[in-house]
Amino acid sequence: MRKRPIATNDPHIQALARIVGEQAILYRKEDLMAYDCDGFTVHRHLPRAVVFPNSTEQVAAVVKYCHEHDLPFLARGAGTGLSGGAIPLNGEVVISLTRMKRLLHVDLENRRAVVEPGFVNLKLTNSVAHRGYYYAPDPSSQYCCTIGGNVAENAGGAHCLKYGVTTNHILGLEVVLPNGEVIEIGGNGVPDPPGYDLLGLLTGSEGTLGIVTKITVRLLKNPEAKQTVLAYFDEVEDASQTVSDIISAGIVPAALEMMDQTAIEAVEAAAFPVGHPKDIAALLLIEVDGISAGIDEQINDILTICRRHHVREVKVAQSEEERARWWANRKTGFGAMGAISPDYLVQDGVIPRSRLPEVLREIADISRKYGLRIANIFHAGDGNLHPLVLFDASKPGETERALAAGSECLKACAAVGGSITGEHGVGIEKKEEMRFIFTDEEILAQTAIRDVFNPKNLLNAGKLFPTPGRCVETKMPSTVK
Ligand SMILES: Cc1cc2nc3c(=O)[nH]c(=O)nc-3n(C[C@H](O)[C@H](O)[C@H](O)COP(=O)(O)OP(=O)(O)OC[C@H]3O[C@@H](n4cnc5c(N)ncnc54)[C@H](O)[C@@H]3O)c2cc1C
Repeated sequence: MRKRPIATNDPHIQALARIVGEQAILYRKEDLMAYDCDGFTVHRHLPRAVVFPNSTEQVAAVVKYCHEHDLPFLARGAGTGLSGGAIPLNGEVVISLTRMKRLLHVDLENRRAVVEPGFVNLKLTNSVAHRGYYYAPDPSSQYCCTIGGNVAENAGGAHCLKYGVTTNHILGLEVVLPNGEVIEIGGNGVPDPPGYDLLGLLTGSEGTLGIVTKITVRLLKNPEAKQTVLAYFDEVEDASQTVSDIISAGIVPAALEMMDQTAIEAVEAAAFPVGHPKDIAALLLIEVDGISAGIDEQINDILTICRRHHVREVKVAQSEEERARWWANRKTGFGAMGAISPDYLVQDGVIPRSRLPEVLREIADISRKYGLRIANIFHAGDGNLHPLVLFDASKPGETERALAAGSECLKACAAVGGSITGEHGVGIEKKEEMRFIFTDEEILAQTAIRDVFNPKNLLNAGKLFPTPGRCVETKMPSTVK
């Protein structure tokens, strides 16, 4: 962090520095450049300043100041978001929560923990694993993304098929509202707390309704046993049909992941190769967990279904080390694209599982139409597709082609009754695509809710809903794009 004394005449920077301390604010261009985008690198905008509060009181004071002086502002966790949610489109004051990273309380008797928003996802499981517990939502970015960012995006992960996404594991929140007031929401485990379900509303609101400063999460007991299967297929259709049949057979795997040939080429060229054959069309990584008694039976059923669909090779992990290698290979899948392409765009559509083969065929057609390779790595069990459009931003027109191809993939998902996002959020990236699934009236109903919490629309404006003038959104302050 910067050690130089404040050297600017900007009265807002000086006022913010008085709140968080001179060592906890960035405002020089060279320092701000690291905050001009998140994991969605297509758009870049410099913030006005980045502040690093270390308490709810400091967050509230910064927010109150911005509110009173009409300064746009937004929250930022680790900046791993893939839809541009943390990009300071309007020269926002970025409120980085990375200094608020304490594990405040662990209550194993009631299976819960309280964390600050900057606490990194994987550290939670690592903190309680020795006592036989874990935190279930496991985005592939879990080694660096924050729980505050997970709440804002309602993050998912490989093991969310059986255990549910972030919203199913959040019991309570402390939130700084856009005017600087602090509220607590949630029933801390009460099954049906009175009043509106604000916890459900805030979770997944993409940082547009408030800034989360404290989170009570559910902890789960480690499953007694788990087994992991790796299955290689010569035809994508066979792999897709296997996914469908496993779920139809009443088996609910903890995770059911799929990678196609291009994705396999990338992961084998990256940091954690495991020796997948490069000529297969698709692989499935399937994990079942629970009490020891039923696991062998479930594995046998899964092996039978794989064989019924002409699996080329199928194997069960023989050790925890082998299982961990398979997962490391899968979880670094997005980053692995860097091994085969200068740039890539991650899409995040959802489809009914039964439509998997036809949508994958359509994505292949889109790839041919735009002359761009598209890899597919995805949570097949819950129909959450991640087409990765590979492109080279240094080639004229290629970024625009990649964006158009990505948008068409989402249209294909929406057309079969699916959705434009399963876990990465809408952000900037998919705000126009909201029209694929919502009518104007439905979007207006949502912006009306936002306006109750965020009436000046200073908090994270220009995200989540279609651009003013191009659709229904009308309420934008003059300072905001
Ligand atoms: C390699 C890779 C793999 C990924 N895999 C997955 C995956 O499997 N599943 C998945 O769901 N996502 C995945 N993601 C996307 C991303 O990691 C998640 O969206 C994550 O939840 C973002 O957390 P963050 O701390 O980085 O948040 P940021 O990117 O900093 O912010 C994301 C949004 O949350 C808001 N926000 C952040 N903190 C707060 C807060 N305290 N209060 C209110 N709003 C806040 C921001 O304003 C922004 O709108 C992946 C990303 C990468 C780069």
